[in-house]
Parts: sequence; C-alpha cells; structure tokens
Amino acid sequence: MTTHTERTALFIDGEWRTPSTGDVIPVVSPLTEQRIGSVPASTHTDVDAAVAAARAARRRPEWAGLAPTERATLLRRFADALEKRAEERAATVTSENGMPILLARFAEGDAPVQLLRYYAGLVESTPVEERRTSQPIPGTTVVRREPVGVVAAIAPWNFPAVLSMFKVAPALAAGCTVVLKPSPETTLDSYLLAEAAAEAGLPAGVLNIVTGGAEIGQYLVAHPGVDKVAFTGSTPAGRHIGRVCGELLRPATLELGGKSAALVLDDADLDATVAGLATASLLNTGQTCYMSTRILLPHSRYSEFRDAITEMAAGLPVGDPMDETTVVGPLVSARQRDRVLSLIEQGRAEGGTVTTGGGRPADRDTGYFVAPTVFADVDNAATIARQEIFGPVLTLLPYTDVDEAVAVANDSEYGLGGTVWTTDDNRGLDVARRVETGSFGVNTFNLDWGSPFGGVKASGVGRELGPEGLAAYQNLKSIFLTA
Ligand code: NAD
Repeated sequence: MTTHTERTALFIDGEWRTPSTGDVIPVVSPLTEQRIGSVPASTHTDVDAAVAAARAARRRPEWAGLAPTERATLLRRFADALEKRAEERAATVTSENGMPILLARFAEGDAPVQLLRYYAGLVESTPVEERRTSQPIPGTTVVRREPVGVVAAIAPWNFPAVLSMFKVAPALAAGCTVVLKPSPETTLDSYLLAEAAAEAGLPAGVLNIVTGGAEIGQYLVAHPGVDKVAFTGSTPAGRHIGRVCGELLRPATLELGGKSAALVLDDADLDATVAGLATASLLNTGQTCYMSTRILLPHSRYSEFRDAITEMAAGLPVGDPMDETTVVGPLVSARQRDRVLSLIEQGRAEGGTVTTGGGRPADRDTGYFVAPTVFADVDNAATIARQEIFGPVLTLLPYTDVDEAVAVANDSEYGLGGTVWTTDDNRGLDVARRVETGSFGVNTFNLDWGSPFGGVKASGVGRELGPEGLAAYQNLKSIFLTA
C-alpha cells in the first residue's frame, strides 16, 4: 500500500504520449489518507487526440480488415497479457479504492480476463451477416452487423477494471475503437490495462485512455468524433449524458444507481439468508450498484432476523483492505465517507433506530471508514430507504404479506437488482417475476457474463453483458437483393 506510482504519460494511438500540460491528478489511499501516486490531467487537446486516433484506427485495415476470428485471437492475447498482471491490477485497485483484496482478485483481477475470453468466443460464433427471404416482394435481404464506430467508455471508481471491461470487451469484439475515461480516483489501474493492450499487439488507436473527472467526461461524451457512449455511474450524471446524447441522436448505454430490495419470505432459512445478505447487501463495503440494501422482513419473523442481521453486520471484519481477512474496507474517499455519514444522520433525524454502527468505527481515526450500520423499523418513505447510500448501511422494513413486500420493493425510483430469500424456489421465482427490475436473484445474486445486466426506471437504459451487450456495439444494416 505504500508504493508510489507517478504516471506521466497518456496512452493514445498505441504509444505513451506527453500530455499537453503538466497538470496532475493526485491519487490518495483511502486507508492512510496519504498520496500514493498521480496521473496526468488530460485537457481537451488530449481528448481530441485520443478521439482522432480512435477515428483513424476504426477504418485502418490492421483493425477494420480483421475477420471476427482474428479479432477474437487478439482479444485472447489481450486476456493473456492482463492475466499476467492480475495480482498487480487487483492490488492497485485495492490501494486506490479500498476494495478488500480477496474481492479485488476475483472481480478486478480475474473477471476482466474472463470477459475478454467470453466475448472472443461469442464474436466467433455470431455471424456478421444473415440472409432472409424478403416479403412482400420476393427477394433476399442480407442483414449485417457492423461496428458502431468510436466508443466513449466512462467508468466509475467502485469496480473500475471490470466495469471498464464490460464496455471495452464487447466494443472491441464488435470491431469498434474505444476512448476510455476512468474515474479520477481509480486511474492508476488503467495504465496496466494499457500496458497489456500494447503487449497483446492491439493495433494503434484501437484503445486509448484519457484521464480526468466530470468535465473531461462531458467533453468526451459530446465530442463530434464519438459514435456511441457507454457510461456507468450515478443517476444524475447519467441523466445529463442522456440529455446530451438525445440531442446528438447518439446511442448511449447508461448503467446507473440503485436501491434494491431483499425480500425475506416467512419460510427463509435464518443462517443461510443472513450469510447470503452479507454479500448481496454489503459487497465492497456497500459500494456496489445492485446491493439489496432495503431488507424487507415479515412481521412474523422480524425480531429474529433483525437481531441476526445486526449480529452479522457488527461481526464483519473491518480493516486494512490488503489483509485477506478484511470484509469491510475504507470507503473510496473523504467525500464519499462524509456523504454516507450525513445520510446516517438523516436516518436518525427521521426516527430510524440504529441497531449497530452509526458512525466511524471507534478504533479507526485514519482512513475513510464507516462502521457497518443497520437501521431497524424504517419506513419506505424515509430518505435512507429512498436514496442510494453507497456505503455499508442497511435498512430493515417490516411487511405483512408478500403482496405488500412486492409493492414496497417496487415503490422505488430505481430498478437495478434485488433478491428474494426462501426455501421454496417456486415462491422465489414467482416473486422474482413480479419485481420491477433489470436483474434479480433467488437466494443469491451473481452476475452472469452470458446474460444481460442493466436497469429499469432511474437505474438506466440499455444492457451490458451477454449477446445483448455485444449487439449494443453493432449497427444493423439491411441490404435488399432481387433474388
Ligand atoms: P459518477 O457519476 O460521479 O462518475 C462516474 C464516471 O463518470 C466518472 O468517471 C466521472 O468522472 C464521470 N462523470 C461524472 N459526471 C459526468 C458527466 N456529466 N458526463 C460525463 N462523465 C461524467 O459516479 P461515481 O460516484 O464514480 O460512481 C458511483 C455511482 O455509480 C453510483 O451511483 C452507483 O450506483 C453507480 N454504479 C452503477 C453501476 C451499474 O451497473 N448500474 C455499477 C457501478 C456503479
């Protein structure tokens, strides 16, 4: 955690370029609150260069001339180069955002490698052209899938490597070129992505990385050289990007915030459910978009579950995220910690009962820690039941029957994830069908590379992952033939 990494160049057009100014973005450890490195701050000039490189690369024969199987070979080489750096990439993410290292190895080290291999396989088995018999006038139509062009990919800090790869892998598989802008808190790890791309022999300009915050993101999104935007982040930023792309008639995939519900049914197994909720509701210290943080409990078993959830949250090991036993690390930044603490205060002010946590852990003066916190007896109208907190804070809401639980789950601005906990899979599936959301788990919540992921309502527009995630980077063209 004490290694310093000062990056001084930008990865544009396949080479390490000197940035247009000497300005830098410091990277701060959420554990020590000390500076652990820096990256250059891109300017509009740097973004112009990155977009120009991506535009030129999309037509060059070295990339545009490749058959899908040849692109798949390159993606696999890219995956191999990333795999060699898996431990370094995971440790870098942990040092930047405080993600517990065991999770970082799985989600940030391995998952991007798997995604590249998944999309390499998919693009090989997905025909680029399909022939259809035309009607009403007899003939043939060739339906082609063509790359949309230059993709602006914008990633958040919570799972920086894998959420970047949710975009980069299908975009490259489709034959697009990419300008990636990571979050300022988590840019160091993207340098290892660039090194792997270069080692794999990705043609110049196919993947470019620019640095910076919201202002550089806005400039990139509206850039005339961009054909599609793929964004993961907060709902307010997503609304802004949606407005800009609407005006430009530019396709955009928007993966935004959530406030998902866990519906615990009256037949749920206590131990299995509470163990499952530790992950489904608190993964990455609650900084995961699909967390089931509104936990709906039947009146008949309310006190039993309230006590067990409280005990679980109170017992989670809090500490140095590089320690393999840590489950709850520091939050990413002082700003995020203060936001979470102020929502906890609001929960108290609105009459919520704190059963554990409720502030910074007593033994942690340094680092952006918030103790795992449980609020009991919360009304679904309370701010802490409506707003995304993005920290280790759970709200417990009692209900009378399943219809009421489903209605409360659906009474939310968001619709991203959600879970149901029951010993009867059929009951679980029935509830899953009734909740208005883009994804849902029965006694689990596991993303599947082969199935679409995304939100409804204020949780977003469009889908990533699966064949649908590849289609999001393809334009359809119909060519009419006489016979
Ligand atoms: P954020 O919206 O502040 O920033 C996300 C990224 O967008 C950053 O790279 C930022 O620099 C950039 N950005 C911010 N405003 C922009 C704008 N107007 N135009 C262009 N770029 C802009 O979000 P964050 O705080 O980094 O991430 C946390 C949020 O992301 C949470 O709300 C969380 O739920 C959401 N999230 C959603 C998913 C999902 O798949 N639905 C996954 C992870 C995180």
